[in-house]
Amino acid sequence: MKAVNNLFMSENQNQILKPTVAETPEGISGQGFFATSLEKAVGLARKNSLWPLPFATSCCGIEFMATMASHYDLARFGSERLSFSPRQSDLLMVMGTVAKKMGPVLREIYIQMAEPKWVMAVGACASSGGIFDTYSVLQGIDRVIPVDVYVPGCPPRPEQIIDGIIKIQELVGNESLRRRSSKEYEDLMKKYNME
Ligand code: SF4
Repeated sequence: MKAVNNLFMSENQNQILKPTVAETPEGISGQGFFATSLEKAVGLARKNSLWPLPFATSCCGIEFMATMASHYDLARFGSERLSFSPRQSDLLMVMGTVAKKMGPVLREIYIQMAEPKWVMAVGACASSGGIFDTYSVLQGIDRVIPVDVYVPGCPPRPEQIIDGIIKIQELVGNESLRRRSSKEYEDLMKKYNME
């Protein structure tokens, strides 16, 4: 949580600080110029402009509301533009208990999202079914869609959700432009019966 704390706290007081500009990717610089690879430039743009689709079904969704509000202010990470339209979002955030009946709906939403896309399971219910070890609850959304980052907790605090966003940003920033057309990715999609 060190990185998150650095964003929130000054050394002497519990004061909310604004983050500074995005980190410069690896590259070569000289007087009046900076050069980096296309992959790193695309990664930098993508990681700082994630558009989340909040799929909130219960209590964890309330923590997400707090994460979006002024105190935690997810806008500082470039993610204030929530999308309820799958085709205009690239980060699916699943927060709450997901009933087995909702599984096909969640899968359909994931399929409708344009590539590249990432998924975060927020809280114990989305990650594993949580305390609801029953016939009607999906025991983790990774039964129906691939997940990139799991955020533990029942519910996770907003700091944990932000930590999850930072982990997603690391994945996005370092993802190869070829990953989505790789054999491994194709195999992953086949595992979920998605082409
Ligand atoms: S993990 Fe806990 S807080 Fe989150 S939806 Fe499940 S029961 Fe609610």
